[in-house]
Amino acid sequence: MIDVLIVGGGGAGLRAAIAVAELDPSLKVAVVSKVYPMRSHTVSAEGGAAGVIGLDDTLDEHCYDTISGGDWLPDQDAVEAFVYEAPRELMQLEHWGCPWSREPDGRVAVRPFGGMKKMRTWYAADKTGFHLLHTLFQTTLKYQDIIRYDEWFVTKLVVDDGRVHGVVAVEIRTGRIETIPARTVILATGGCGRVFPFTTNAAIKTGDGMALAYHAGAPLKDMEFVQYHPTGLPFTGILITEAARAEGGWLINKDGYRYLQDYDLGKPTPTPKLRSMELGPRDRLSQAFVHEQEKGRTVDTPYGPVVYLDLRHLGEGKIDTRIPFVRELCRSYQNLDPATDLIPVRPVVHYMMGGVHTDIDGATPVAGLYAAGETACVSINGANRLGSNSLPECLVFGRRAGTAAAEFALSHRDGEAAAVRSQGDDERRRLERAREGRRTGEHVADLREQMQHTLEGAAGIYRNGDVLAKAVDTLAELRQRADEVCFDDTGAAFNTELINLQELHTMLDVAQTIVACALNRQESRGAHQRTDFAARDDANYLAHSLVHRAPDGTPSVTLLPVTITRWPPGERVYGRD
Ligand SMILES: Cc1cc2nc3c(=O)[nH]c(=O)nc-3n(C[C@H](O)[C@H](O)[C@H](O)COP(=O)(O)OP(=O)(O)OC[C@H]3O[C@@H](n4cnc5c(N)ncnc54)[C@H](O)[C@@H]3O)c2cc1C
Repeated sequence: MIDVLIVGGGGAGLRAAIAVAELDPSLKVAVVSKVYPMRSHTVSAEGGAAGVIGLDDTLDEHCYDTISGGDWLPDQDAVEAFVYEAPRELMQLEHWGCPWSREPDGRVAVRPFGGMKKMRTWYAADKTGFHLLHTLFQTTLKYQDIIRYDEWFVTKLVVDDGRVHGVVAVEIRTGRIETIPARTVILATGGCGRVFPFTTNAAIKTGDGMALAYHAGAPLKDMEFVQYHPTGLPFTGILITEAARAEGGWLINKDGYRYLQDYDLGKPTPTPKLRSMELGPRDRLSQAFVHEQEKGRTVDTPYGPVVYLDLRHLGEGKIDTRIPFVRELCRSYQNLDPATDLIPVRPVVHYMMGGVHTDIDGATPVAGLYAAGETACVSINGANRLGSNSLPECLVFGRRAGTAAAEFALSHRDGEAAAVRSQGDDERRRLERAREGRRTGEHVADLREQMQHTLEGAAGIYRNGDVLAKAVDTLAELRQRADEVCFDDTGAAFNTELINLQELHTMLDVAQTIVACALNRQESRGAHQRTDFAARDDANYLAHSLVHRAPDGTPSVTLLPVTITRWPPGERVYGRD
């Protein structure tokens, strides 16, 4: 039997696999991934990974930036563990071969990043995720015993009596449906940006792990906090990394004016400066865009209103050495050259602060079930994640979850539970029935689009109670209609329609929890801005939202106090020394 089964081959999943293999080589560990591991979304991360390294920096300052950046919603014990372990993890990657960019004297180079008041973001040009994932992947190859299920799609967690016993998965190539018994399962399935229509997220980011946990009885946490990144290309949603602003890029409106100076983020500086206004946190910058739009100072395009990112003053040399991928993306996808042209950009859904509720070791309330990476909510990101904290989060909590799961497996040497066969058979029959399908009804793609637009309308950068309440009804209705969709492909091999249907159900679960949590939180904090409750309300909401799936399938939200260790709630101040 598998001791530790990891769902996900991105940064968090692979880091967890290495931790298990290193702890005890006799443990059987498997990585199941719906895409070949190197195609996981981690590969597309550009800007960098934060970890204190400079002599002028301290661990406490990284903690403080993360906590204030998250509008005091992060759990401070988790943040402390994260900040203390991040540099060690980044150095470990160096030893495994990650080609971090260097200063001329050979030291690891760091760049400024949004909301970070010291330079602590390590990078490998602007292809950090590619190099990081490559390094992890090649390291897993050292361990011959890591079993890989590449292009297998997990549809269900087997859970009995409050304990996980394995998963049911479909081999996409053949359509084979298999139950894989396991003593522990780690969910490392990444985020859920595809719930929205306009996102930087890869098509595979459909929140599967969140829905798997939710159905298995583990609550989700802080689902209302969805991060918009201020600079996406208008048509594709492709990300122009924050590193472009860290290297000195400006945001200007239709009058050529650096508008961020109007939003209490600091004053314009001619050269990049650590606390320059372009490096304010993402929630504030995305909100500033909406205000510019309301003032008529954005530019209308067929793909929505935009402002411009101006990199022209950086010069070709700097662009080519520090952010070559930005130039490549602009040329290929926007038909322009940032060395000579302005880049049109608009805010785009980028990251999910919420996720599966875990403790500091990745454990969920379901025994043997763990989660790490973007699918988890430990929580270090609170109401707004700082750029470059996510990659190290995958490393730190991937390792912690791997170690904790391995220890659980070592102390629970029991055999296969009866539930494995019975639940596996039920799930196989359900999937086979779905594949036989109906020939009439609506198509998955149409329902998906309606869900995405419902979410954008109700749970975007600004929200209000009336629109959210309507979205609750719309999503409930879409859920009913999703049970009766038309299904054309009855084949077993590469049945992507079946996968798309599974993902639609997953996304509807996630969408319902986002809307329910957003409706319940009657205050504004970080990325959650309610026009009907415009102020932060610490008296009532200095607390996480915890959402369970009620017996009737609807989300049920409660609050859980935030852990405060050393930093009492304060004001978020940017652009001032
Ligand atoms: C364009 C972009 C740029 C970014 N840049 C940065 C940056 O510079 N710095 C930073 O800190 N963060 C960045 N982020 C965020 C960061 O990259 C992600 O949060 C992080 O990489 C997520 O890693 P993960 O391991 O949790 O999940 P992912 O890398 O998304 O991997 C998820 C894995 O789960 C598997 N999976 C999912 N569902 C199933 C299923 N049902 N069955 C089987 N397998 C499944 C997938 O196949 C995949 O292997 C960026 C994000 C994007 C989108």
